[in-house]
Amino acid sequence: MGFTVAEKLIAASLVDGEMKKGNRIGIHISQTLTHDVTGVMTYLEFEAIGLKRVKTDLSVSYIDHNILQADFKNPDDHRFLMDITSKYGILCTKPASGICHQLHLERFAKPGKSLLGSDSHTVNAGGVGMLAIGAGGLDIAMAMAGEPFYFTMPAIVKVVLIGELPSFVSAKNVILEILRRISVKGGLNTILEYTGPGIQTLNVTERATICNMGAEAGATTSVFLSDEITRYWFQAQGREQDWVPIFADEDAVYDRVIEINLSEMEPLIALPHQPDNVVLVRDAVGIDIDQVMFGGCTNSSLQDVMSIAHILAGKHVHGNIDTALYCGSRQVMTECVRRGIIEQLVGSGVRVMEMFCGACNGMGFAPPSNGKSVRTGPRNFIGRCGTDSANVYLTSPEVAAASALTGKITDPRDLGLTPWKYTMPSQFVIDERMFLQPKDIADDAPVRRGPNIKPLPEIESVPDELTGETLIKVGDDITTDHIIPAGAHFLPIRCNIPEVSKYAFKVVDESFSARAKEAGSGFIIGGHNYGQGSSREQAALAPRYLGVRAVIAKSFARIHLANLVNFGLLPFVFVNEADFDHFDQGDSLSIDTTVLQQGMQYAVCNHTKGIDVPVVTPLSQDELDIIRVGGRLNWIKQRNS
Ligand code: SF4
Repeated sequence: MGFTVAEKLIAASLVDGEMKKGNRIGIHISQTLTHDVTGVMTYLEFEAIGLKRVKTDLSVSYIDHNILQADFKNPDDHRFLMDITSKYGILCTKPASGICHQLHLERFAKPGKSLLGSDSHTVNAGGVGMLAIGAGGLDIAMAMAGEPFYFTMPAIVKVVLIGELPSFVSAKNVILEILRRISVKGGLNTILEYTGPGIQTLNVTERATICNMGAEAGATTSVFLSDEITRYWFQAQGREQDWVPIFADEDAVYDRVIEINLSEMEPLIALPHQPDNVVLVRDAVGIDIDQVMFGGCTNSSLQDVMSIAHILAGKHVHGNIDTALYCGSRQVMTECVRRGIIEQLVGSGVRVMEMFCGACNGMGFAPPSNGKSVRTGPRNFIGRCGTDSANVYLTSPEVAAASALTGKITDPRDLGLTPWKYTMPSQFVIDERMFLQPKDIADDAPVRRGPNIKPLPEIESVPDELTGETLIKVGDDITTDHIIPAGAHFLPIRCNIPEVSKYAFKVVDESFSARAKEAGSGFIIGGHNYGQGSSREQAALAPRYLGVRAVIAKSFARIHLANLVNFGLLPFVFVNEADFDHFDQGDSLSIDTTVLQQGMQYAVCNHTKGIDVPVVTPLSQDELDIIRVGGRLNWIKQRNS
C-alpha cells in the first residue's frame, strides 16, 4: 500500500511510534518558529531547560504581533527577543518585517521537512509540502532542545479539487467552503491533504491560504504536494536548491474524501463570531459595515494586494468606511511599491499600515462599539478585534475590496469589473537584512529583560485528590481568545502571568479571575472543542496559576490539550456527554487522582448534587506522568537532574 503526501512527510521525520491512525507518534523537528507574543515565554522555557544552543537546523523568532509601542512593554520584549535569540543560535527579525507565516513561506519553508511553530497558523507552510504544525511554546522549547514532538497519528482526509476558480472567487473561498462543510470541529485529529486536477490552477500563496485556515477546522495540519508550481516559487525566491518533489503514491489510501468543484464556487463570507459560520456572499449582501481590514496571515500576499488594487483602481473607498492594509512582508510591500500599487491604494483612501499581523488580533484598528468589520484574516472570535461588542466578517480580498467601495457587504461580481488574473513574478525582491543573525558561538552576554517579563510560575505536582468548586461552566467551541483575551491591552502582558491571569475568561465572565484566585482550587466544565483557536499557552498556564486543577469537557482542541499537559492541568472527558448537564457553577467537586493511568475511568463526585459522574482522560501514560510532576518543564528538569 502506498503513502499519501502527509504519510511521506511524517515518515521522513518519525523517530518514535508506529504510523497507525490513533497511535501516539514522535517526530524530529527540523525548524521552529515563534513570534513575539508566544516567543518570550518560549525562550524563558528554553532557558530553563539549560542548553547553550538550539539543536534544530533552523529556529526563527519573528516580531510581528506586539508592534504598537505605547509604552515600554512591547519594545522591552523586542529587545529581550533580539538578545536571547542571538545567544542561543536563533535568527530574529526586526519588528514589523512581516507576518511570521508569510515570511517563513518566502525565506525558510522547505518541502519534506518538519516545522513546529508556537502559532496555530504555522500550518501555512503546508502550501509548499512541508509538515508544519502549531503547538504551545513549551513544545517549541523542547523541539529546540532536540526532543521529539509527540502527537496522535491523524486520519488523512483527501480533499479533491477539480475545475478552476472563477473570476473574483479566490483561494480563501476554498477554505471557507471546507469550514462550511465540516465546521470548526470537523478537522480534529485529521490532516487535510489537497489533491486533484484543480491544484494545478493554484500557486503557492493560494495553497498556503487554504492550508492556513485548516487551523480553524481544528486539523493537525494541511498539506499540498510539492510539484513544478512549488519549484517555480522557490526559483522566484532565489532558493531553488531547497525544493524537492513530493507526490502521493498512486495506491495511497485515505480515510475520507471531500470533493470541491472550484468552477462552481461562489464568494463566501463567515458571519460573526466563528469562522465556520459561512454563507454565500449573495445572502449577506447589503449589510452596512464600518470598516475593512486587508491583511492577516491568510491573505497578505502580493497576489492578494494586487487583486484589491485592481478592484479599487480609479475609485475611492466609501465615505463611511475606514479601510486599512497590512502587507504580509517587506517583500510584498516592496513589490507593491515598485508597481505603484501603494500610491494607488493611498489615493483610493486606504490606510497603509506596517507589515505585521495588525488588526487581526486587535493590535490597533479596532472597530467602533457595535461596529461591523469585514476582514481578510482567519479569525472572527468575539472580542478578538479589540472591541467586545463588534461583529467581524471573514472573507476574501475581493469581497472585502468590493465592500470597501460600497459601504455594504458586496459581491464583487456585481460591480461590472473587468476580470483580472495574477501572474507571479519570476523573481521576487529579496532583502534579508531584517533577519538578525545569531552570534557564531554561545556566550554569556547578558539578556536585557524589562520589568514586565516575569519568571515562569512554579507548578506543584498533582495531589492524590483534587477538590474545589466548579469555577466556570462554558459551552461548545470556547476559544483561547475567550480564555485569555487578545487586543492591544492584553497582548503586551502575556509574558506576565500574574497580570494576564486577571483577565482570564474576561469575555465570558469578568468575575472569574477573582473568584478562582479566592477559591484557590477548582474546576472548569466545558463543552465540545474546548480551547480551539490560537496556540497561546497562557490559556492553560493562567487558569492553572489561578488554581484550576482540572478541565472536564466533552472534547478538547489538540493544541490546547497539549498545553494543559505542559502546565500540569488534568483534562477529563465525559463518558456520557449528557452528564454535562449535571454541573453548575459553584458545585463542590472532588476527584480521586491517587492513580493516574491511561484509559482508566474516574468518578467526579459532585457533592452539591450528590452524584458521581464517570470521566476518562484522553491522555497517554507518558502525558499523565508529565502531569503528575506538574508539567513538562518539571518533568524535563527531573529527567536531566
Ligand atoms: Fe497574526 Fe492573525 Fe495570523 Fe495570528 S491569525 S499569525 S495574529 S495574522
